[in-house]
Amino acid sequence: MRNAIYPGSFDPPTYGHLDVIKRASTLFDKVIVSVLNNSAKTPLFSAEERVNMLREAVCDLPNVEVRSFEGLTIEFAKECNACAIVRGLRAVTDFEYELQLAQVNKVMAPAIETVLLTTALEYAFLSSTVVREFASYGSDISKFVPPSIEKCIIKRLNELKNKNN
Ligand code: ADP
Repeated sequence: MRNAIYPGSFDPPTYGHLDVIKRASTLFDKVIVSVLNNSAKTPLFSAEERVNMLREAVCDLPNVEVRSFEGLTIEFAKECNACAIVRGLRAVTDFEYELQLAQVNKVMAPAIETVLLTTALEYAFLSSTVVREFASYGSDISKFVPPSIEKCIIKRLNELKNKNN
């Protein structure tokens, strides 16, 4: 079994993430989408909520699993018996960071490769930050995220608005 993990924040998951997941699922026997539960950050969605959103979005991909993890990605990769860590590359601005991560992970676990998938061109501009920003101004985000995730984002932003009023 050739397992890969695809780690990230996914706050929220976007069509860019889903494109990477779909393509990775054709390259490996199993892809474990790994949602980082970082207690130092205050995300829009809890790790559990992000896991649930992703599970719904990938339910048609039988060899994709979604889990959350804490701590170092490379340790989680070992725990999952992964031979690879998949990451996405949108632009040169991603490259320096991703290269550094790949290099440090290679030092920590030489048997685990980093596989960088270049973005589908139509999603090159797309990030979770862009989605959160546009959604917060009430813009249509249906081109960025699936309908089920769009609903969750609108609901969460309304909850936050009501809380602050
Ligand atoms: P992180 O905080 O770990 O960067 P993200 O959820 O922002 O988590 O992204 C997870 C991975 O998905 C990263 O490798 C990122 O470069 C990649 N990614 C994000 N958006 C896209 C996109 N539109 N196309 C391709 N890869 C993407």
